[in-house]
Amino acid sequence: MPELPEVETVRRGLMKIAAGRKINAIDIYYGKTITNDVETFRQALIGQTIKRVDRRGKYLLFRFTNDLTMVSHLRMEGKYYNQPIGGPIDKHTHVVFQFTDGTELCYQDTRKFGRMTLVKTGDEMNVGGLKTIGPEPTDDSFTLPFFTAELRKSHGKIKPFLLNQRHVAGLGNIYVDEVLWMSKINPEQPANTLTDQQIAELRKSIIKELATAIKFKGTTVHSFTNAFGDAGAFQERLNAYGHAGDKCPRCGTKMVKIKVAERGTTFCPHCQALKE
Ligand SMILES: [Zn+2]
Repeated sequence: MPELPEVETVRRGLMKIAAGRKINAIDIYYGKTITNDVETFRQALIGQTIKRVDRRGKYLLFRFTNDLTMVSHLRMEGKYYNQPIGGPIDKHTHVVFQFTDGTELCYQDTRKFGRMTLVKTGDEMNVGGLKTIGPEPTDDSFTLPFFTAELRKSHGKIKPFLLNQRHVAGLGNIYVDEVLWMSKINPEQPANTLTDQQIAELRKSIIKELATAIKFKGTTVHSFTNAFGDAGAFQERLNAYGHAGDKCPRCGTKMVKIKVAERGTTFCPHCQALKE
């Protein structure tokens, strides 16, 4: 699943291939991708221009000239690409926005889990997980007092705590393994047992790691590539995720993979020992 750095990379690409384009027609091949009435969705957007594309957490927010916002969540495998109108589409292409400039924006999703929801601009925070989404992982938004208070309230393990978008927006399986490795915290450590120093370090690691991953255009794993032909390069900089059986880059101990909250989890049993 694309995490924040990958979705931000997609957003930046969409600013180049979709922003400023006026919609001439919309073809919808898999109606469930659209959570609104399909015909209402189509009629509301034909003739409108995409002003810009914003992002909140892992959600893309397409802003239209008629004060409508399309909330798009890629879920497991959703991706956007552009091409000249009438270019090839396959059975995984579910929505095509044709623009007046002769290009089209295609939405492709092999797993079909991605969704688009059209709302009045300003109402987007009532859509799906945006209702309860936590702060963006930036120094200004993701404050130490907030993070500390949330951790103190939780008896659960730290890994699922960080995967929960209410606590901080944008982390998924890859970056949680990375920030826990960076901060030397065991993925099964109960959230409310972290020391003040660990909390401060973990917060810093989250902010730094996601910003760096954005700089490298995200991580390319499995089928995820950012729509525009340039794959992210951050996978070469991962220390934990995908490195089970390899030596820990910090201490040389063999990294192990376990399941935590049903998710494959790689960590160093030496640097990330469970603390009493
Ligand atoms: Zn280690």
